[in-house]
Amino acid sequence: MRTHLQIAIDGPAGVGKSTIGERLARRLGYLYVDTGAFYRTLTCIALTTDTPLDNAEALDALARSIHIEITPPAPATADGRSYTVLVDGQDITPQLRLPAVDAAVSQVSSHEPVRATLRQRQREMADTQGVVMVGRDIGTIVLPEADLKIFLTTSIEERAKRRHGDLVAKYGADSPSLATVRDEIVQRDARDAAHTFVAPDAVVINNDHLEADEVVERILQIIAERQRGGQA
Ligand code: C5P
Repeated sequence: MRTHLQIAIDGPAGVGKSTIGERLARRLGYLYVDTGAFYRTLTCIALTTDTPLDNAEALDALARSIHIEITPPAPATADGRSYTVLVDGQDITPQLRLPAVDAAVSQVSSHEPVRATLRQRQREMADTQGVVMVGRDIGTIVLPEADLKIFLTTSIEERAKRRHGDLVAKYGADSPSLATVRDEIVQRDARDAAHTFVAPDAVVINNDHLEADEVVERILQIIAERQRGGQA
């Protein structure tokens, strides 16, 4: 039985992977790794360096040339971030969720050479310590030997409602309509479908009627049960 577990949480956009993954990691004292941050980081740098988003080779060369460091946020950081991303020492965290990055990231992540390079970086982070890693291909490709694999699902209606609520809280009357938010989610699902996999040994949790903390408790319960049964 490993003492430091590898826990994979996969699922499409807007199912609460990040919130749940971060809280779970904190409860376990493990490292939290959001693999979406790697793709967002590369997208950010590609946009600022005018690297063509359809050029897999150029994007892969860019991915290999930059040093991406993901660290816990400094206590003085007050913008609600759950990690800090440094690229060659420079903090680019605030740019990761810009609409331009949202719009381009699926194209950047669609290139196989880019995925191979970034997956290697992700694996290195899980090598030496307990980790909760969230993404879309973690339980199947990045960490196929993970001790526990969770696949989160939420209905489109519920995801759209939650995301719309977040936007209204942030931008008030300037927020897009619920229908627009729903369409954007459907489009991103379609673009990411080729890289989103349910591992055959994953526990699938639908959280339409569960709060994030309830999902965290459920996962902790599964870990405890498996440890009692000697399966983890
Ligand atoms: O999870 P998040 O929305 O931050 O991910 C941003 C994008 O990164 C996704 O839309 C997807 O294109 C890509 N991604 C991926 N594989 C992962 C994590 C993210 O392709 N494991």
